[in-house]
Amino acid sequence: MLKIENIQAGYGNIIAIKNVSLEINEGEIITLIGANGAGKSTTLMTISGVVAARSGHIFFRNEPIEKKSSDDIVKLGICQVPEGRHIFPQLTVQENLDMGAFLRKDTAEIKKDLEYVFDLFPILAARKNQDGGTLSGGEQQMLAMSRALMARPQLLLLDEPSMGLAPLVIKQIFEIIKQINKENNTTIFLVEQNANQALHIADRAYVLENGEITLSGSAADLLKNSDIQKAYLGI
Ligand code: ATP
Repeated sequence: MLKIENIQAGYGNIIAIKNVSLEINEGEIITLIGANGAGKSTTLMTISGVVAARSGHIFFRNEPIEKKSSDDIVKLGICQVPEGRHIFPQLTVQENLDMGAFLRKDTAEIKKDLEYVFDLFPILAARKNQDGGTLSGGEQQMLAMSRALMARPQLLLLDEPSMGLAPLVIKQIFEIIKQINKENNTTIFLVEQNANQALHIADRAYVLENGEITLSGSAADLLKNSDIQKAYLGI
């Protein structure tokens, strides 16, 4: 579904990712794990067209997308939930969700998707007239994910969805990520520092260190890998 070939990207003189290559197949949950500053967010933002690729290629269903605008990338079916949620705090929950469907014109289908996200996160239905900024951290994460789902993505890019959340809420968020993948057939690329949780729901994983992919494999194999256990799982 998505193929990244030798991507390099950065900011001014900083090269944040170099020679990154990876593949995501339809229907998979793929996780990218790595320490602070490894280049995980940059990888996601390069896919979604927010950060420009300096070299290399990104193919979405065989179509090169590395030169497309982020709007066009959303229209193709790739949607990112950024780190730190970035919901619109002064807009209500409902208005935030409406913003997610901004590029769509299929009103009847939008209504169905709204029902779907309210089924996934009933708390959002209960809070739909409340300002986004007044939600708890976990509820804001749910809103950010739901807003992305309102664009009906085929590939959902999630940047650190567990960041700053209580353990119980993290568990709930990870369960819902799995549910979105299974029920909705949405392919998921999950960037996480919480490697343990991420590897437990992912099919395959890539490890990013100092801007380079150093290891990849099935999530089950990586969970058993002693280097990964020491570096990322605290075992
Ligand atoms: P974290 O888990 O802490 O979010 P990360 O793995 O997502 O880290 P990135 O945010 O992609 O890493 O950062 C990779 C490198 O690029 C870091 O050295 C960071 O300081 C640098 N960087 C990120 N954003 C910018 C920016 N807007 N301007 C300059 N440098 C940046």
